[in-house]
Amino acid sequence: MSQKVRVRFAPSPTGPLHIGGVRTALYNYLFAKKNDGVFILRIEDTDQTRYVDGAEDYIKNSLDWLGLAPDEGPGYGGDFGPYRQSERKELYKQYAEELVAKGKAYYAFDTPDELDQMRKSYEAKGVHSAKYDSNTRNEMRNSLTLSESESQALIAANNNVIIRLKMPSNEEISFSDIVRSDVTFKTSELDDKVILKNDGMPTYHLANIVDDHLMEISHVIRGEEWLSSTAHHVFMYNALGWDTPKYVHLPLILKPTGKGKLSKRDGAKFGFPVFPMEWQDKKEDVLYLGFKEMGFDTDALLNFLVLLGWNPGNDEEILSRDKMIELFNLDKIVKSGARFDFDKAKWFNQSYIQKSNNEDLFPIVSSMLSEKEINVSENFIKQFITLMKERVTFFPDFYTEGEFFFNSPNEYDQKQVKKRYKPEMDTHFNRIISDINSVSGAEEMAAKVKGYLNENELKMGAYLPLLRIMICGGMKGPDLFEIINLIGSEEAINRIEKGLTSFQQITSNIS
Ligand code: GLU
Repeated sequence: MSQKVRVRFAPSPTGPLHIGGVRTALYNYLFAKKNDGVFILRIEDTDQTRYVDGAEDYIKNSLDWLGLAPDEGPGYGGDFGPYRQSERKELYKQYAEELVAKGKAYYAFDTPDELDQMRKSYEAKGVHSAKYDSNTRNEMRNSLTLSESESQALIAANNNVIIRLKMPSNEEISFSDIVRSDVTFKTSELDDKVILKNDGMPTYHLANIVDDHLMEISHVIRGEEWLSSTAHHVFMYNALGWDTPKYVHLPLILKPTGKGKLSKRDGAKFGFPVFPMEWQDKKEDVLYLGFKEMGFDTDALLNFLVLLGWNPGNDEEILSRDKMIELFNLDKIVKSGARFDFDKAKWFNQSYIQKSNNEDLFPIVSSMLSEKEINVSENFIKQFITLMKERVTFFPDFYTEGEFFFNSPNEYDQKQVKKRYKPEMDTHFNRIISDINSVSGAEEMAAKVKGYLNENELKMGAYLPLLRIMICGGMKGPDLFEIINLIGSEEAINRIEKGLTSFQQITSNIS
């Protein structure tokens, strides 16, 4: 590759980063890393009306959490800054004026009322949602229809003056996209987009191409929804005599049903997060769930996301970060939408936790336990991790699924107790207590207790589930004797005694 790879992730701070945006950031990041390139974060905040407080910080915190920190960007340094478009405001006007001078753009002076009237008059003729374009611009008030002196006076008064692109009436604009090959748009279907607003702020379209050019962006990797804007962008590149970057439009991420684009409402509807981190929406007064708070491992989440629209060319699914960088290529990005399957995300997380080293899990689990004010030894935590890590899907499950390691149960699975317990079992449980007391080690305890049950022709399937309920509260958890061994025989015996008393109460209440 001759040109240095420089790619950018260019979100608008209009809200939290959607999971589709995270995938876009990830693909840009991987492509940069793979090619010794540079990954840039650019904040596209020219539309002040849609600006949301806290959104930029949210975006940066999310990228940092995911280990996708940019090489250049606001707060990250770099020689092509500023990286926030609102701080580059002065820079854009000259290019809009250059486009006017070249006959590729023009001034327009129409008031909102006039625009409204135009739409209504077309509607009366049966044309719905008429656009400002090569068909309608000749009927409007702009520098193409007014005299030079009239236009100059209006420009000087700077009232409702904007600059629009002058899209040709009957041509084609073609460009090549790495995912979609050759793409062609008919200019007759493209409107005369506003590129500079009355307050001197550029719109997305102008700011985006000027910055991609000035920041020497080699590849534009972004969502499919920007495909049609690309025709306008290519028109401007050509008019300004600049080379276009290479385009890569990523497929949509679809709802779990496979029908339609995944939206933020789907999170609530299907009960999974669509944002990397929790987001408090002040306007809607809603707290949106985050993958982070749900207990996702960042590498598991990235592994899930990388396969939404790309594959390594074989069936390999578990891809470490290094492996993703090694294998990532643009040719294997697919065109068709990728279905968001949350069960798959869970499967990745579970697999990652299972294959994590205990040392890596230790800080996560021990800080979770400290938060719950649980004080146990380092050795206890290590053994706890070994016993539980096969059984959890999310980090918080260590605690929610394994709380009985630290606290004696206060509630029991009543249905099971009523079904299984009979007071005449007590004598045998008392023997089990002394068996547990007489040996140490999980295997030894298991052998002793099972030996006793066998010798007395008592059913394992009758006694062991009840023993488990006394220790854990319900029919859950890893190997019972490993649990007993870790919590210690004294604690186990207390639980059995407490369990027997409670079981008697539970069963005597049967009416
Ligand atoms: N600011 C656009 C967005 O919010 C960026 C699109 C692009 O990457 O060009 O997604």
